[in-house]
Amino acid sequence: MARFTLNILGCGSAKPTPQHLPACQVLDFRDKLYMIDCGEGAQHTFAQMHLRPSRLNHVFISHLHGDHFLGLLGLLSSMTLMGKEGEVVVHTFADGARIIGDMMNYIDRHRSYELRFNIIKVGHEVIYEDNALRVSTLPLKHSVPAVGFLFEEKGKERHLRGDMADFHGIPAWQRAAVKGGADFVKPDGTVIPNNFLTTAPDPPVRYAYCSDTMPSERVIPLIEGVDWLYHEATYDSTRADKARQYCHSTAAQAAEVARRAQAKHLIIGHYSARYDTPELLLREAQAIFPATIAAAERQRLDLLR
Ligand SMILES: [Zn+2]
Repeated sequence: MARFTLNILGCGSAKPTPQHLPACQVLDFRDKLYMIDCGEGAQHTFAQMHLRPSRLNHVFISHLHGDHFLGLLGLLSSMTLMGKEGEVVVHTFADGARIIGDMMNYIDRHRSYELRFNIIKVGHEVIYEDNALRVSTLPLKHSVPAVGFLFEEKGKERHLRGDMADFHGIPAWQRAAVKGGADFVKPDGTVIPNNFLTTAPDPPVRYAYCSDTMPSERVIPLIEGVDWLYHEATYDSTRADKARQYCHSTAAQAAEVARRAQAKHLIIGHYSARYDTPELLLREAQAIFPATIAAAERQRLDLLR
């Protein structure tokens, strides 16, 4: 069974609090891990959640504020201690590649794995793609260059009809090809077209990560109809001025983005240190967009549900 799970490692903002760690998430998709941002403490929560470095090959950094990437140096250094093999690709701006590259060459010169950088820019373009997943950037509005990330499943298998598979005697070794769209050729040469044997695949699941940002008009059409939207909700509505001043969003603004983009679910996070619990932010968001949940550390969400 395919897996598409979102692990929340940190959902606080820059100021440390007893409740939260800074931004970090890990998508667990078909046995590979994709990290989004890497605030301080990420590697500790990574271990607590029993996530394995051997499966982590891609890290996506939204912007270069410390609460979104300062945990990466620790995590990357520890990977050598854990005997990580293969490569780790950090998708970041040119400045990020320079800063992180310089630091890593100083503190962990003899890495057990290859560290590569994929330079990204503010905009909307595909930055990673394999046969199962596509990742593109989303242009955000923040006080420094910032992007969100859109993760899209691709190439999902068609559903094989059990009755037809039995009726035509499709052997087990040919079923994967039929699920992939191939016709079935019987031993006597009769061709059974694929549309008699299968039904359409489930629609691909899409997940958008938008943090840190003010509400952005440009992003709304790019995330239209997403199954899951993580949108920062740093403040409540009484602090809308502060949100604007620091280029962040209120919970109501996050909900408004979800509503206008016709997202199916909204997850809010990046809470300001002034809130002991996200209750107020959640209430404000749910008043506009009922299908909102509040992110919490060590939460696992099944994105296929
Ligand atoms: Zn920021």
